[in-house]
Amino acid sequence: MKSFDNSVDAYKEAVDLMPGGVNSPVRAFKSVGMSPIFMEYGKGSQIVDIDGNEYIDYVLSWGPLILGHAHNRVVTKLQEAVANGTSFGTSTTLENKLAELVIERVPSIEMVRMVNSGTEATMSALRVARGYTGRNKILKFEGNYHGHGDSLLIKAGSGVATLGLPDSPGVPESIAKNTITVPYNDVESVRYAFEQYGDDIAAVIVEPVSGNMGVVPPENNFLQDLRNITEDNGTLLIFDEVMTGFRVGFNCAQGYFGVTPDLTCLGKVIGGGLPVGAYGGKRDIMENIAPTGSIYQAGTLSGNPLAMTAGYETLNALTEDSYKEVNQQVDKLIEGFKQAANDFQLPLQINRAGSMVGVFFTDEAVVDFETAQKSNLDYFAQYYRAMIEEGIFLPPSQFEGLFLSTAHTDEDIDKTIQAVRNAFSKIEK
Ligand code: PMP
Repeated sequence: MKSFDNSVDAYKEAVDLMPGGVNSPVRAFKSVGMSPIFMEYGKGSQIVDIDGNEYIDYVLSWGPLILGHAHNRVVTKLQEAVANGTSFGTSTTLENKLAELVIERVPSIEMVRMVNSGTEATMSALRVARGYTGRNKILKFEGNYHGHGDSLLIKAGSGVATLGLPDSPGVPESIAKNTITVPYNDVESVRYAFEQYGDDIAAVIVEPVSGNMGVVPPENNFLQDLRNITEDNGTLLIFDEVMTGFRVGFNCAQGYFGVTPDLTCLGKVIGGGLPVGAYGGKRDIMENIAPTGSIYQAGTLSGNPLAMTAGYETLNALTEDSYKEVNQQVDKLIEGFKQAANDFQLPLQINRAGSMVGVFFTDEAVVDFETAQKSNLDYFAQYYRAMIEEGIFLPPSQFEGLFLSTAHTDEDIDKTIQAVRNAFSKIEK
């Protein structure tokens, strides 16, 4: 059995200092019944906790580290950048370099604005959509997460396509009622919402592959249908690619699925592990943002030289082949999961887009929030704890996807498959 004594002590200290002892709720490991694990360092696909336990990492800081931990070139370039000063509050050419790469790779982006997190990107994109269209309402999908901004922290009201309810104390009802929530992959509900409120819907915001209810890809023509409906109604289509951007493919999810939104939100991979977000889109929309236009949005540390360096070096290291190679590891891993589920007679569904993988303990296909919720959380918690013992670090929630990096080796995948088999063999039904 692994010892977690140092993590347990650190957590005891932390609970007095921070709410729940953490700076972001999912780090509390609540849904798997464990005490938080504190990490010490990482290299490639490996991380090591403060008790010296080693893991193959499939969290990768929740997605950003597509090159793995402490990638040599990223580290070297960051060391050079830090020696030049950490922030100036003026423009630097590093911002141009990253912006150029983003514009080159993301089909919908003709101009981009850097911010500091995914939350800031989605909040700002909504303001732009409202400012540009002069409309108030937003349509989002149940089980999609777009950060913790007021307009987006909304759960569905009862019934199809009703106005939303606050998902947290502190979100005013007056804001929630401007957010319409409908089931993911359900175009009929979107049509119905547009019949009711179409001329006041500023934007439809969607995760082009949902990664915050586990991984749920778009079905059939879902994204193209959203494109058509929004175009017909003078509504902007926003792809929240904070998770999928440069993760699902070289040209993001929009390149992968061949559907181009009006605005795109980015985060995670474009910061290469430093705090970055970005939003961008068509020039005639983006030029309405201050200082060219009157829609206000700003940031003291936006375009920070260290963050731009990590983002640029990360994107620059990725080629179309990098994605092919990672995808081959994903294929092999998924095959191993399926074989193990079969051999140990466990209900299992695997959803996947590029190197985002959702493993659900259920017999039923997972296509939306409702079907994701049918997963057996007890099986997940048992599997999770067994995998930690096996030295495999996974996101501590059934409703989060796991990620692979270019640093994951054949040996890592073989070890992980063996660990899955050992874990599945111990699940008490
Ligand atoms: N959008 C999506 C799709 C996300 O997955 C996340 C974070 N997991 C966010 C927005 C919010 O990003 P951040 O945590 O950087 O604010």
